[in-house]
Amino acid sequence: MTEKKLANSQLGSLEYDPAPESASIARLKPSYGLFIDGSFSDPSKHEQFVTLNPANEEVIATVAQASAGDVDAAVAAARHAYETVWSKTTGAERSKYLFRIARLIQERARELAVVETLDNGKPIRESRDVDIPLAAAHFFYYAGWADKLDHAGFGADPRPIGVAGQIIPWNFPLLMAAWKLAPALAAGNTCVLKPAETTPLSALILAEILQQAELPPGVVNIVTGNGTTGAALVDHPGVDKIAFTGSTDVGRLIQQRVASSQKRLTLELGGKGANIVFEDAPIDEMIEGIIDGIFFNQGHVCCAGSRLLVQESIADEVLRRLVRRVEQLRVGDPMDKNTDVGAINSAAQLARIQELTAFGEGEGATRYTSSCVLPENGYWFAPTIFADVSQSHRIAREEIFGPVLSVLTFRTPEEAVAKANNTNYGLACGVWSEKGSRTLWVAQRLRAGVIWANTYNRFDPTSPFGGVRESGFGREGGRHGLEAYLNV
Ligand code: NAP
Ligand code: MG
Repeated sequence: MTEKKLANSQLGSLEYDPAPESASIARLKPSYGLFIDGSFSDPSKHEQFVTLNPANEEVIATVAQASAGDVDAAVAAARHAYETVWSKTTGAERSKYLFRIARLIQERARELAVVETLDNGKPIRESRDVDIPLAAAHFFYYAGWADKLDHAGFGADPRPIGVAGQIIPWNFPLLMAAWKLAPALAAGNTCVLKPAETTPLSALILAEILQQAELPPGVVNIVTGNGTTGAALVDHPGVDKIAFTGSTDVGRLIQQRVASSQKRLTLELGGKGANIVFEDAPIDEMIEGIIDGIFFNQGHVCCAGSRLLVQESIADEVLRRLVRRVEQLRVGDPMDKNTDVGAINSAAQLARIQELTAFGEGEGATRYTSSCVLPENGYWFAPTIFADVSQSHRIAREEIFGPVLSVLTFRTPEEAVAKANNTNYGLACGVWSEKGSRTLWVAQRLRAGVIWANTYNRFDPTSPFGGVRESGFGREGGRHGLEAYLNV
């Protein structure tokens, strides 16, 4: 028995044979243009950039860099489509298009999952079971609303806003596109979407799906590019609304840029979610919930449970079990169906995780890092837990956006609430307890947009999601998600 196998068998885990998904399912083209007015076109300045597979640093496709002129053309197409077609299309008709898009996402789900995993580095199991089905579910859900806006609680015949500029990050590329497009289209707006620079491909496959669905040209336009493309969209005078998901720093900048305009704005920004565990919680479920809360999607999750607050009486046992569980996580090839933790999305994100974790050690926290063997090429970070973390440590205050958990302790519910709220953010929290009354007491005092009880990272299109304080404002999902795209 090899050393690795011995270690694994001592931990009670099984060896798995590789079960790789085939990259050829992606059927990717070597290069992609901009999706403007219903068709793909070359960027006016003929500038392009490459998108990599972060698991091996290989180039997977070349993508167009949209200039300010291209953004202008996309906004003009969206305006024309809004005035001539989409604002005159009935809710029932819009609903049919959304249903069609949802079904086509389902039909092409396997291809989309492979594209997402190749471009982002997330495990195929997650893109297959979470990202793509949830993206389809968002279109299905808002398809149901398109002809019922009169009953959404915003008065009779609520009107759309007009042209929406939508900027999304790289952590859930297709899902974030669905969160933005589905409610906007249901409410009768037209859109210009800017995907993240490192993960543009699934949005471009979605563009093909929009063509298949025969969505009228210009109703959705997709402009790939970097931050300058996003800035051109934010500054464009023809845009009526900006919806942004990304970092708090860029969100703040965007807020300043639109402050002197009439543009409506919603921001979904960062977080430093507290996962609070009480001594009476069922420990097996809780350990899985903590692990899922931070290591799902390599911790590239704005609502990740990155601060574990554990009651002092069970702190030693929880830490011991977490360290053991982290050792069992399978880190490696994202295309392998057995992989739990994939690649870090970019060299820049890896550098940030490395910088913050080095600070954690420097500030005196105790580090436990999985002994997993990391692949030689690509961007990788072994799952890590920090114990003995205090509230002043950078790893307790700043968003790491990686597979790193900071563990703090508390004695009373009051202390747990005070520590959980001691953050500039306010996106999500989790509470674990057998006692419903205690869960409600704590939940009522937490300042966060989303609170999960005895679970974590549960997403559903019917449920509103969004933050308070530096985590942003506005809600996506549910009936509330329509408000961001209606003139109410
Ligand atoms: P980011 O730099 O803020 O990027 C987000 C998007 O904005 C990307 O498409 C980006 O383009 C674009 N962008 C960059 N600079 C811009 C500018 N000046 N004007 C307009 N657009 C601009 O964020 P990131 O570092 O890529 O993503 C991770 C962050 O997003 C984390 O902090 C995380 O918490 C947050 N996030 C929040 C949520 C939520 O729902 N609240 C969800 C996911 C992620 P490029 O790709 O070219 O940089
Ligand atoms: Mg970025």
